[in-house]
Amino acid sequence: MASKFSIQFLGGAGTVTGSKFLVRFDGHNVMVDCGMFQGLKNLRELNRAPLPIDVRELDSVILTHAHLDHTGHLPLLAGAGFKGKIYCSEPTFELSEIILRDTAKIQEEDALHANQGGYSKHNPALPLYGTRDVEKILPHFEVKPPHQWIQIAPRIKFRFQLSGHILGSVFIELDCGDERIVFSGDLGRKHPLTLNPPAQIENADYVVIESTYGDRKHPREDLFDRFAKIISETVKKGGQVLIPCFAVGRTQDILHILARLKSAGSIPDLPIYLDSPMAIRTTRVFDRFPTWHKLGPEDLENLERGVTMVSDSEASKQLQKDDRPAIVIAGSGMMAGGRILSHAFTKLQEPKNTFILVGFQAAGTLGRFLRDGSDEVKMFGKYVPVNARIEEISSLSAHADQSEIIDWLKGFTKPPKKAFIVHGEPHSADALRVRIKDSLGWPVLVAVMSDQVSLESGG
Ligand SMILES: [Zn+2]
Repeated sequence: MASKFSIQFLGGAGTVTGSKFLVRFDGHNVMVDCGMFQGLKNLRELNRAPLPIDVRELDSVILTHAHLDHTGHLPLLAGAGFKGKIYCSEPTFELSEIILRDTAKIQEEDALHANQGGYSKHNPALPLYGTRDVEKILPHFEVKPPHQWIQIAPRIKFRFQLSGHILGSVFIELDCGDERIVFSGDLGRKHPLTLNPPAQIENADYVVIESTYGDRKHPREDLFDRFAKIISETVKKGGQVLIPCFAVGRTQDILHILARLKSAGSIPDLPIYLDSPMAIRTTRVFDRFPTWHKLGPEDLENLERGVTMVSDSEASKQLQKDDRPAIVIAGSGMMAGGRILSHAFTKLQEPKNTFILVGFQAAGTLGRFLRDGSDEVKMFGKYVPVNARIEEISSLSAHADQSEIIDWLKGFTKPPKKAFIVHGEPHSADALRVRIKDSLGWPVLVAVMSDQVSLESGG
């Protein structure tokens, strides 16, 4: 008997953020990822819109990884009456807790500042959620190991496989009856710097594939040379190198690169500050999961050696005033919030400083404005001239580029019934669609926000 079987795209469709995919099968509702929208205002406003499903009828959420655009909506579920479980890998649980607590705190502080500064259009500004909401959702988490099938309903099971994107990130193979849907989550690079490479999945009836870099190839440049050159040139001018950074993943890659450059004498021996409590906590999570990455004990020790960890907010304020040559790593990666903003407010105005963008910059974020060459940006309600040097090192990306995505898809032994493209801005998603059609000949569709697509069920 055919079952009612469908997938609905509640986020991560037409945009890179807000990933939320709802699978309905056999009377069960399973959500894969539950991310926050970030970037443009009209996207951010979606975070406050109710989901098109009664959350009390949601049986479970399965997470691909801890990044906010895949987990940031979770605290809102508890308030809406969610009674189910949230399945994830063990590192994803630890990192999600760090990320969600940090996000709640930032939102509470931002709302407070906006109300005090009077620059919010909402009166009063309200945080999307607070620490109490995070605490309400944490008991729903249940960690599961990779490689093992986990039965979550009589005819529904899933399995995690390592995806090489960040610590703890996984692909999800979701079996509904006889049909298998594979969710790529964020697909890592073929040769990640600090993580194990992505596993090859071989079978799927449906594939949901990300397309962040679906339209381009990362430059095949020597990362270490590039960093060394930019840092040395900036220090010669007496400036600071500021690296807006994703706390989870990219920060550890950068600390690893800087440690190697320093020990090889390729960069001057200048102070390195990690001005992000979240990144500091995350770096320590690496120590506890040695099988989830390829850093040895010595590499891990070197990550923190010679780096000043700035947890305390008073120390961070002092550092913001200090403009002597140094490397400052601070969140957030797209400059959408966090301590990097307070640094940027003054340091963007100085031509001697360099900002290095090291990850994807979503439309509408400060990082994207800088990447696109804006000579003036609006911050904290004021216009700030951009005189600092802006560099982008996209080869450090934690996302596969177009050719790496196609190579991974080529590893499937037979074409799926359909591939759905998600997690990309429209031109990237469409470029990948054309490429999949031309190179693989698969039936392929760019997912549209809110669309519910019926899937064929074999049994
Ligand atoms: Zn991610």
